[in-house]
Amino acid sequence: MRHQILIIGGGSAGISVAARLRRRDPSLSVAVIEPSEVHYYQPYWTLVGAGIVPKEASVRLESSVMPRGVTWIRDRVERIEPDANAVVLSSGQRVEYEQLVVAPGLRIDWEKVKGLKETLGKNGVCSIYDYQQAEKTWEMIRTFQGGHAIFTAPATPIKCGGAPQKIMFLAEETFVQQGIKHNSQVSFYTGGGVIFGVKVYADALQKVADRKDLDYKFKHDLHEIRPESREAVFCKTTDAGLEEVVVKYDLLHVVPPMSAPAFVQESPLALQEGPLKGWMAVDHTTLQSTTHPNVFGLGDVIGTPNAKTGAAIRKQAPTVVTNLLAARQHLTMTGAYDGYGSCPLVTGRGKLILAEFNYKNEATPSFPFDQAKERYDMYLLKRHGLPFLYWNLMLKGLA
Ligand SMILES: Cc1cc2nc3c(=O)[nH]c(=O)nc-3n(C[C@H](O)[C@H](O)[C@H](O)COP(=O)(O)OP(=O)(O)OC[C@H]3O[C@@H](n4cnc5c(N)ncnc54)[C@H](O)[C@@H]3O)c2cc1C
Repeated sequence: MRHQILIIGGGSAGISVAARLRRRDPSLSVAVIEPSEVHYYQPYWTLVGAGIVPKEASVRLESSVMPRGVTWIRDRVERIEPDANAVVLSSGQRVEYEQLVVAPGLRIDWEKVKGLKETLGKNGVCSIYDYQQAEKTWEMIRTFQGGHAIFTAPATPIKCGGAPQKIMFLAEETFVQQGIKHNSQVSFYTGGGVIFGVKVYADALQKVADRKDLDYKFKHDLHEIRPESREAVFCKTTDAGLEEVVVKYDLLHVVPPMSAPAFVQESPLALQEGPLKGWMAVDHTTLQSTTHPNVFGLGDVIGTPNAKTGAAIRKQAPTVVTNLLAARQHLTMTGAYDGYGSCPLVTGRGKLILAEFNYKNEATPSFPFDQAKERYDMYLLKRHGLPFLYWNLMLKGLA
């Protein structure tokens, strides 16, 4: 099998690029390798976890989003051989390409938190980072009887860095509505060191945290769960080194560490050193592989210092398509990605701070008002506007 352009992954990034390529040049032979029968709109999982939308609203058949004229290879990539311009599938088949787009998203390392896999979905342990578990999260939040509710975030890069706090804000609101807030403590334990990376939004979130009386613990990375005793074990980074901290919980919302898929980490396309080792190495502006000029990468898999979000992909996809087509014709690449990312920070039902920023962590607001303020119209954008934009425009290569 040989295709002019081969795309690994039919998620947000892969489908956006495939659709744009078809629009720009329908004569190109484009193939997408994607094993899943379904396609998820993952940003809805935060709202699923808060009982605002049913989980079914976040899923569609992969066949319904695959652009017409694109070959869908229903298999999984096992290995990339960029020096031979080929990938090897789990069936053993080799697929050759002229240009490759790497967009397989990231891997959620559930097993890296000891005890998590065994207890997830039971014993008060939940996570919105999975389609089925998002629904169970709402079940646990809804039936919480009070006590210590802990929400965690890891030290690794994750998709949608704001989601671990969003679900906490929505859960806290539910506890107030259920009349159990007075006998509950709500805590956020994060492996990170700040509430949010962009100052103007960090200040706004701090006010929300104060209003809701949330307890923040920084540099606390969850590494074990003991379900029998309902204890969460954290690795705390201090000036003197690492320290183990054991905390009792009644509800534990877990966001596990995340990494690039193994086949990317093991390939020559991965960053070989530094804090982002293993993620795909691309030029931060052109999104071209730093080692193989006929390879491009976008979405959650790339080792760039931007927020891993669908919003980032909306800007990355046109950059990749412009540059990939220019590279085909040996022209100068003019597409430039500035690190744009957006995080619609839901702070309650009907309240949202729309954080938008770039590589330099500078706020890059789209609207002519103070986006660091909680707004109802921005909540409606997240609830209704962005899903519409995603399914009808972004995945069709129109936005
Ligand atoms: C709880 C949650 C809340 C979020 N909230 C927001 C938000 O509010 N706003 C926002 O913009 N973003 C949000 N995101 C992030 C957003 O969903 C992701 O950044 C986006 O989906 C990444 O797109 P991607 O194409 O890189 O990866 P994905 O969309 O995950 O797609 C990757 C695809 O690659 C396929 N694949 C994997 N391995 C292989 C392989 N070996 N071979 C072939 N194919 C493979 C997978 O099956 C999958 O279909 C959220 C995510 C979560 C989980």
